[in-house]
Amino acid sequence: MRRSADELNKMRKAGKVVAEMHEATRAAIRPGITTMQLNEIASDVIAKRGARSNFLNYHGFPAVICTSPNNMIVHGIPGDYALKEGDIISIDCGAIIEGYHGDAAYTAGVGEISDVARRLIEVTERSLWAGIDQLVKGNRLHEVGRAVQNVAEAAGFSVVREYVGHAIGTAMHESPQVPNYWPGTPGPTLKEGMVFAIEPMVNAGGPETYELDDGWSVMTADGSLSAHFEHTIAVTDNGPEVFTLA
Ligand code: MG
Ligand code: MG
Repeated sequence: MRRSADELNKMRKAGKVVAEMHEATRAAIRPGITTMQLNEIASDVIAKRGARSNFLNYHGFPAVICTSPNNMIVHGIPGDYALKEGDIISIDCGAIIEGYHGDAAYTAGVGEISDVARRLIEVTERSLWAGIDQLVKGNRLHEVGRAVQNVAEAAGFSVVREYVGHAIGTAMHESPQVPNYWPGTPGPTLKEGMVFAIEPMVNAGGPETYELDDGWSVMTADGSLSAHFEHTIAVTDNGPEVFTLA
């Protein structure tokens, strides 16, 4: 779906709120802070900006952010887990302004982290930007996944298959999906006004996943570390415009 200039403006505003949630939570990451405290910090940003949360109550999800440490890939529920030195933590959050959605995620280290953790974070963020570079008018959507996969696999890592990016607008998850790998078809042709959330989930080991009994938390099957970066991006006449940057 293509969005009007007015709609894109609302999505720009929603994106700014998400970026502010990222900045506020990132600044608070340190050993000892709990994932529930990070959720409260993000919730305060939503309230201060007069936004609504698209995560809270989504299929019953109980918080405004997802917090996924170490070998948890995505969808972690904030709680009493206290971050510790050497952890990595993935934080995914979103916001709604005037009915329009933003969605973005990042992974950060807690204090000193291992070399593989640092490289995983760097490669996953770089794979996101390689995907964003493909969001150009006239290109085919699934070049995004090919670009993401190339960066991740060249580094010796793997991309998760079961969870993917998506179009976004008046709902958080709209069609079409945006896989982080080459799905074997080129996908739809990109036109100005289309908006996507691109979100590579990259594992240090194999790509396989499983879900915990809480019905949300997605883990790496082999226990390896996982990182997650996401932005909300519009296809414009002047190339990709990232709405969720600070
Ligand atoms: Mg997200
Ligand atoms: Mg998303």
